[in-house]
Amino acid sequence: MLKYIMQLYKSKRLKVKHAFSSRQGGVSQPPYDSLNLAYHVGDRRDDVVKNHKLFAYEAGFDFKKLVFMNQIHSNKVHVVDEDSFLVPSCDALVTNLCDTPLMVMSADCAPVLFYDEVSKTVAAAHVGRKGAFGNIVKNVLDVMWERFGAEAENIVVAVGPNIKLCCYEVGEKEKSEAKNLGYGFALSGAHLDIDAIIAHQLQKEGVLKEHVEFLPHCTCCESERFFSYRAQGETGRNAAVIVLEDYV
Ligand SMILES: [Zn+2]
Repeated sequence: MLKYIMQLYKSKRLKVKHAFSSRQGGVSQPPYDSLNLAYHVGDRRDDVVKNHKLFAYEAGFDFKKLVFMNQIHSNKVHVVDEDSFLVPSCDALVTNLCDTPLMVMSADCAPVLFYDEVSKTVAAAHVGRKGAFGNIVKNVLDVMWERFGAEAENIVVAVGPNIKLCCYEVGEKEKSEAKNLGYGFALSGAHLDIDAIIAHQLQKEGVLKEHVEFLPHCTCCESERFFSYRAQGETGRNAAVIVLEDYV
């Protein structure tokens, strides 16, 4: 088997330590080959631990401090502070703690990273169709503002590799749900554009268009490079991580 060097993706706009992973550079065997970062998908636990360590090393954060979620396709947000490292089931994490890497896992759903340079707040969210329909983006921005005083106009957002309009076909039920929620603009025939919904929600809350970057990769089109649930079924998970560094 060919050994690949780990390839991480970054946003040009996000001026804080972060990374989006791809499939390459891990130790897991098919169908989790090779950099699977999720424990819950049926992969060998030891391999996932090794992958976490490899990813942490390459992305430059402390493996032991990594905070990740039991993701449930909800719009629930959890604040990571000194008292609450134990993370409940949720789909977004927010913190102002330094050296506290927040991780989100996905294989078609959008990993969304947030950073406010002024209040020094970061967040990571898992946004699939349910998260988008439930407007988890607004909940993250609300928590960033209420808990840490992060103003929307200062927040920079990067949306990582996810399934794009080209590959995301939905059924009649999902189509009518999108229309009922006012997201009819994101439909193109039977295809749904999750990015368009995220962009709309961010702008509605006051995040500036020029502060938002969508990485161009479709996980399903590029399933050789990224884990894609729709393309592969049983498979691993990509991850996105964001961490505030101690500037002192
Ligand atoms: Zn595609």
